[in-house]
Amino acid sequence: MPPPRRARARLRWIDPFAPEHIRRLVAEFGSPLLILDCARVRTQYRNLRRALPGVDLHYALKPMPHAALVQTIVDEGGFLDLATTGEVQLVTSLGIDPARCIHTHPIKRDIDIRNALHAGVRVFVADNPDELEKFVPWRDTAELLLRVSFRAPGAVCDLSRKFGCDPEALLSLARRARELGLTVRGLSFHVGSQAPNSVKHLEAIETCGKLLAAARREKLGPLDTLDIGGGFPIGYGQRAPDIGRFCAPLRAALARLPRRVRVIAEPGRYIAGPAAIGVASVMGRAQREGHWWYYLDDGLYGSYSGQLYDHARYPVEALREGTERLPSVLAGPTCDSIDVIAENLMLPRLRAGDLIVGRSMGAYTWASASEFNFFPRATVIAVNRTAGDMGGV
Ligand SMILES: *Cc1c(COP(=O)(O)O)cnc(C)c1O
Repeated sequence: MPPPRRARARLRWIDPFAPEHIRRLVAEFGSPLLILDCARVRTQYRNLRRALPGVDLHYALKPMPHAALVQTIVDEGGFLDLATTGEVQLVTSLGIDPARCIHTHPIKRDIDIRNALHAGVRVFVADNPDELEKFVPWRDTAELLLRVSFRAPGAVCDLSRKFGCDPEALLSLARRARELGLTVRGLSFHVGSQAPNSVKHLEAIETCGKLLAAARREKLGPLDTLDIGGGFPIGYGQRAPDIGRFCAPLRAALARLPRRVRVIAEPGRYIAGPAAIGVASVMGRAQREGHWWYYLDDGLYGSYSGQLYDHARYPVEALREGTERLPSVLAGPTCDSIDVIAENLMLPRLRAGDLIVGRSMGAYTWASASEFNFFPRATVIAVNRTAGDMGGV
């Protein structure tokens, strides 16, 4: 795999998901690739803005912590959601105004808090009394969002099992924060990723509205912010859920919040997921028990790791024409038997060097890839970086 070359200006927009451009990018940068289309990032960001007017969108870096994506969001006027010192360092290296960032990991080491404060981040999340104590030395600078838990057994990843305080315990947590002299800016929640519908968001907004009002009556802090988290779903193969329709009940619920509450959200998957494709090459093939097995240079330990960790299924296709379709298996490169991407596919007869494309691979793919067996992670190639002249790679 040749090393990525330096950026070169190409003053035209390209469709990086079109076969001729995929082939050209692989010829130039090698394989495997993750092709990130910043134009699609902008489309996703703008669609969610339109679906949630007045809500500030903090892109959560976790699903795809890549500089080009982060910069695209900031160039759109967006904000960021950080959770680790590594993410703080990434935005710091890009010279991004820390006032655009919040830190939302509910459990932090003192060093993580210090690193974020040192970088200029001011707003943090806490969900329990022990975590509140960690902010006592910083009570003059740091402000807190208290994370409330809303269980969502229907979500693909129920994040409220691991984090958040029960709604019934929220007021006593806020009272404890006041005793410690901390500033409670507001509340946050995350109902779980890839939400099947907006029922949980709705319930959470309504409950948080009541909790905000109750905490304000007790004068437990400014309590003028509600962070409605992420979870906005995308389509994998099936038609994407309509984000305007998904958000319509949320808009109505947000309009009923106590007056002067600033609302923010932390979308990750919705922004990053549809914006990238994975491109892998056939390394070799074998016929086994009536099926063609194709061994690719990317797999479950690489960009397809989301099939394990994120329970996603990426639509895959071969960049080869052919009317004859044969029962096929796509396997990853490592020597581990679980490293199989898809079985029982009907594909044209492929050869070494043929390309396999996986769609909707921007979120929770490359981010959780490993280099098991020393197969390198895919090279990320960001295209259409700027909105105006659509400069290339
Ligand atoms: C992962 C995460 C997100 C992003 O969630 P999506 O479902 O990808 O939108 C946002 N906020 C927090 C705190 C997270 O942990």
